[in-house]
Amino acid sequence: MSAATGSKVHTLDTATLVLATMRKRGISGLPRNYELVYEALNASNSVLTREFEALGRMPAQDELDLLCKKHFPHHRRQDVVDGAHEKISGELEGMLRLLKQEQTSLESYSKLLGETYNRISTKSATSAEILTGIINVMSNATGDTMEKGKVVVEHMVERAREMEQVKLELDEYKRIANTDTLTRLANRRAFDEMLSAIYNDRRKAMYYALIVADIDHFKKFNDVYGHPVGDRVLTIVAAVMKSALRRDVFLSRTGGEEFAIILEGTSQSVTTEIAERVRRAVERTPLKNQKTGLEYGPITLSLGICMASDADSAEELYNKADVALYSAKNAGRNCYQVYNPELNQEFEKNWTLYKK
Ligand code: GH3
Ligand code: MG
Ligand code: MG
Repeated sequence: MSAATGSKVHTLDTATLVLATMRKRGISGLPRNYELVYEALNASNSVLTREFEALGRMPAQDELDLLCKKHFPHHRRQDVVDGAHEKISGELEGMLRLLKQEQTSLESYSKLLGETYNRISTKSATSAEILTGIINVMSNATGDTMEKGKVVVEHMVERAREMEQVKLELDEYKRIANTDTLTRLANRRAFDEMLSAIYNDRRKAMYYALIVADIDHFKKFNDVYGHPVGDRVLTIVAAVMKSALRRDVFLSRTGGEEFAIILEGTSQSVTTEIAERVRRAVERTPLKNQKTGLEYGPITLSLGICMASDADSAEELYNKADVALYSAKNAGRNCYQVYNPELNQEFEKNWTLYKK
C-alpha cells in the first residue's frame, strides 16, 4: 500500500526529502542527481534503492552517473538537458550581441539627426530647407538602418527556428521524465505534479476526484510465476485500465502495483461509476500464458475514492483516498470504497494488521 502506511516516502514531502537527502549525503544539486535520488527514495525500483543506499555518504559523481546509466538507459535525459542548455546559452548570447549592435546603430542614427538639425538651423535657413535637409539625411541613414535591421531580422528568424528545436527536445525530455518505463503510463512524479495543481484554484478543486487502485494479492504472481510474469500483469492491468477510461483522463502508476486516476469536472456518482467500470474491466481480463495457455488466475483491483472537496490539500486528498482503499481491502478486496470520516477509525485500528 502507499504513503499512508508510512512504508514509503510521503507524496508531497518527496521534494523536501530528496533535497535534504542530497544535502546530507553531500550530493551536488545537479538535475540528474535529483532524478536519481527521487527515484531511489520513491522505492519504485528496489534494486536502485539498494544500490543508492550502498553508496553511502559523499558518493562520487561518477558513481552516481553509473547508477543513472544503469537504471535509466533509455532516458538520454542528461544529454538532452546538457545539449539544450548549451544551445540556449549560445542563442541568448547571439541575440544579446545583435540587440547591442542594433542599439548602437539606432543611437548613431539619432545622433546624426540631431547634428543635422543643428547644422541646418544655425544657417538661418527657411523651414522648408531645414525639412528638406533632414529628409535627405533621414533617407540615407534609414536606408542604412533598414539594411542592418534586415540582417538582424534574418538572424532572429534563424535563432527562433533553433529555439523551437530546443523546445521540442525539452518537451521530449519532460515526457520521458514523466513516464513510467514499464507501463508507459504517467509516473509518480507526474502524479505528484498533477495532484498539487488541483488545489491551486480552490473553486476548481471542488470538481476533482481521486481514485487510487491497488492490485489484489499481486505478490502471489511474483512468488508463484516469477517477477517477469508480475511485470506482465502490471502492463496488462495498466492497458486495461487505460482502455476503460476516456482518453483525456489522467491515469498513472504511482508505485509498485498501485495506480491513480484523477478525474476533473466530476460528481461522486460519476466517480463511483468510473471506479466500478475500471474494477470490472480488470476482473474480466483473462490472464494466461500466450504460449502454453496456462491460466494465471483471476486478477482484481481494490479502489479507494476521495472527492477533492473532502480535503484541503493534495496530501490530505491522497491520504483519504488511501484510507478508503484500505477499507476496500478490508471489505474483502475487488471492490471500491468512498472516503468518509468514519473510515479513519477503522484505518487507525487495523492498518498494521492489514500491512501483514
Ligand atoms: P494486497 O492485496 O494487500 O495489496 O496484497 P499484495 O500482494 O498486492 O501487496 P504487497 O504490498 O504485499 O505486495 C506488492 C508486491 O509488488 C511486492 C513487490 O515485490 C511487488 N512489486 C513492486 N513493484 C514491482 C514491479 O515493478 N514488478 C514486479 N513484478 N513486482 C513488483
Ligand atoms: Mg500495494
Ligand atoms: Mg496489492
